[in-house]
Amino acid sequence: MKVRTRYAPSPTGFMHVGNLRTALYEYLIAKSQDGSFVLRIEDTDRERLVEGAVDVIYNTLKTAGLCHDEGPDIGGEYGPYVQSERKDMYLPYAEQLIKEGKAYRCFCTKERLEKLSEENVGGGYDGHCRDLPKEEIERLLSEGVPYVIRQKMPKEGSTTFSDAVFGEITVENSELTDQILIKSDGYPTYNFANVIDDHTMGITHVVRGCEYLSSTPKYNLLYEAFGWEIPTYVHLPLIMGKNEDGSVSKLSKRHGATGFEDLVSEGYLPQAIINYIALLGWCPKSNQEIFTLAELCENFHVDEISKSPSVFDYDKLSWMNAEYLRAMDESEFTSFAKPYYEKAFAGKAYDSKKLFEILHERTVKLTDIPAMIDFFAELPEYDREMFVNKKSKTTLENVPEILKAVIEELSGIDSWNSDSIKECLLGLAVKMELKNGTVMWPARIAAAGKTVTPGGAVEILDILGKEESLRRLNLGLSKLA
Ligand code: GLU
Repeated sequence: MKVRTRYAPSPTGFMHVGNLRTALYEYLIAKSQDGSFVLRIEDTDRERLVEGAVDVIYNTLKTAGLCHDEGPDIGGEYGPYVQSERKDMYLPYAEQLIKEGKAYRCFCTKERLEKLSEENVGGGYDGHCRDLPKEEIERLLSEGVPYVIRQKMPKEGSTTFSDAVFGEITVENSELTDQILIKSDGYPTYNFANVIDDHTMGITHVVRGCEYLSSTPKYNLLYEAFGWEIPTYVHLPLIMGKNEDGSVSKLSKRHGATGFEDLVSEGYLPQAIINYIALLGWCPKSNQEIFTLAELCENFHVDEISKSPSVFDYDKLSWMNAEYLRAMDESEFTSFAKPYYEKAFAGKAYDSKKLFEILHERTVKLTDIPAMIDFFAELPEYDREMFVNKKSKTTLENVPEILKAVIEELSGIDSWNSDSIKECLLGLAVKMELKNGTVMWPARIAAAGKTVTPGGAVEILDILGKEESLRRLNLGLSKLA
């Protein structure tokens, strides 16, 4: 049988990393077995709908490279793929169950149900309408009394199901309330629509967060009532965040960004996010940690998903992001870094090849870039004390003489490039009988106005160009006068 998985988000306007992981695992399960990955939009909860939210879903899947084979935007044999467009499909299924004695109309008033839940907290529905006499039902129907359709849950015995991650799970049927399938407005409940959709769309693997584990017996009783084949369930472990006191709790905004778009705007690469998220709950057999999407498809196995909660570690994500940046060639790196260069240079010209050389080994997050290079566009205010460095053996006394010599030597360069600058500064150190660092430190401070820079004096002077370099070196010298 062809594997068919579905990603069934509710359009809430935000793609939590947990949802993205579900989408990724659905994609991997389908693609690793030559199956289809289906996108279904679950928009029946009209109160939760957010304008533009469906676009967030499309954009995220596209940016993350998780291309669906069927969905609202591209169609397919099993459409429609938006739940609200399927709304007429559900009632006939519920009526079929009524005919077979597996479901019933419940005419209980809101007041009665409220009173019941007050008296019987957590106990569920008491089955008042389960066995109403036929004549009574007909009378209520003819009077137009509103009703819901409930499923008849078995009162005895237990329901067992097997989950690919959590193993065998059993619940006592007496704990299951007669669930509502169709609401009084004729619309299906989420649980009912979900089962009908998964079955009619031929879904073979249902992947979702473990918060759905407790509803699964109810889904299965529906499959059984219809005599349908139960899909393979893959429930995923919780994603936790690290608290300041070292404890962990469910990942939320107080731990950091939790949405895909937010992580991207914090400077993480989509491919690094996907790679990192793949490892949240999946333990590959080898020690390999860096996987392309294609490699994930080859290596991913459902039986390697762990049921213990995984902790979202932002440091680890940063490490992975830096690995991805380091592996990029100049043109790829530049395509990602460009918006950040533009921000730092604010309209001024820059040389992206030279920036690549100083940044690509050192950048952890793209958002670090502007602060790393902003001194090129404008020399920051700095204090003369910065010239003093014990390790480089620079003091307020020896720096003026060194800077003067640096200016003199550099002024003589005709062809300004990193080789000629380096040769010139190293030659100067020899001539003055100084350590290389004693010449480089003051040159770098004067050129950058800060102590921590990507690249050393040579690279910085090269990027600044001769004129600007000499202007800054002279300015540095004048600070010491
Ligand atoms: N629409 C549900 C959600 O966004 C999906 C649940 C499921 O995958 O069955 O949480």
